[in-house]
Amino acid sequence: MSEPLSRAHALALDANDPLRDLRNEFLIPRHAGGEQTYFVGNSLGLQPRGAQAAVQEVMTQWADLAVEGHFTGPTQWLRYHRLVSEPLARVVGALPSEVVAMNTLSVNLHLMMVSFYRPTTQRPVILMEAGAFPTDRHAVEAQIRFHGFDPADCLVEVQPDEATGTISTAAIEQAIAVHGARLALVLWPGVQYRTGQAFDLHAIAALARAQGANVGFDLAHSVGNLPLQLHDIGADFAVWCHYKYLNSGPGAVAGAFVHERHHRDTTLPRFAGWWGHEEATRFQMAPQFIPAAGAEGWQLSNPPILGLAPLRASLDLFERAGMGALRTKSLALTGLLDALVQARLPHVLERVTPAEDERRGCQLSLRVIGGRERGRALFEHLHAAGVLGDWREPDVIRISPTPLYNRYQDLHHFVDEVQAWTGL
Ligand SMILES: *Cc1c(COP(=O)(O)O)cnc(C)c1O
Repeated sequence: MSEPLSRAHALALDANDPLRDLRNEFLIPRHAGGEQTYFVGNSLGLQPRGAQAAVQEVMTQWADLAVEGHFTGPTQWLRYHRLVSEPLARVVGALPSEVVAMNTLSVNLHLMMVSFYRPTTQRPVILMEAGAFPTDRHAVEAQIRFHGFDPADCLVEVQPDEATGTISTAAIEQAIAVHGARLALVLWPGVQYRTGQAFDLHAIAALARAQGANVGFDLAHSVGNLPLQLHDIGADFAVWCHYKYLNSGPGAVAGAFVHERHHRDTTLPRFAGWWGHEEATRFQMAPQFIPAAGAEGWQLSNPPILGLAPLRASLDLFERAGMGALRTKSLALTGLLDALVQARLPHVLERVTPAEDERRGCQLSLRVIGGRERGRALFEHLHAAGVLGDWREPDVIRISPTPLYNRYQDLHHFVDEVQAWTGL
């Protein structure tokens, strides 16, 4: 066996990778006559080759069938959203009836909070992380105000308590205990977008529910990255987008999960629309709203079929690979990246993301030692060399090797380019 941090070893890993063929299912952007080294699947996943055909199929049906496309054949638009429920449910560990592809993440977050954030004078508080993605912070504050409460009193943010800006489970546990009797909702990310920290969703859900609070997860950086067990964890709801690790294109239709225990609860307030009405009587066009059982009952509009088409193509690849095999490769990729950075770039990059497997997904957030100017210069150098990560102010480069299309040799390319830039 060759030396584990050698390029030869990486090439051998690629040659023996059981998932290696999946890379051919993606369109890799070009750079200088070759291919980019793309580590930005956490921001916009690459295009699956099947996406164009899936969109073209809808365009052709529209041309050939027009309105009859709603009712014709196995991909009829009336039930099109249901074509993704089973594979999507497998990706997030849910029952097919618990998931729905609809709207966008921020919209779904609001819709879910309409049903699951029900503040009272005794219990008005939403607990979330400090430094959350802005849309989550905005939505939470807006919901609190919408109910006539004051965010200064009703929004509790758990501060990072670890040296690199991550949050321990103990700190979350303590915050939930301290605010327990006043907690209406705990809203937490699966993976933190800036630090790459993965959280113990099982523990958070159990702690929140033991206090009588609802619990919802924002899985924007988790879905397609980590195996999830939303049903068993017992979250009340979850939301996510499909353009990051789910590779379904810019502004792709998003996803939502509603736990089975809420499916027949007609007392839950919700912002209803006709596509959430039970299918059997929807076209009687009666004024009373009868929600469809399951997450589908939260739909508002008939879905954008063209927007859903790439998601079908993407989920085909997840079905082929399986989340278990993807996670196995992901751990090996990110573990190797970490080892290479520690061994060869300790004077250049400092890992912000936790070291433990169970506390991270594929992303490593790497702080550039020496401050913002040095960081930007390195980032620009990598970009010019066709090595794409992304930048988070003031000094962090995020590198997300994804097991669907990244290779072990890509990690060497990254480390070699950083080393070339430092002149070592
Ligand atoms: C990417 C991301 C979003 C994006 O919201 P959209 O409604 O899809 O624009 C929201 N929250 C988190 C945590 C994210 O990572």
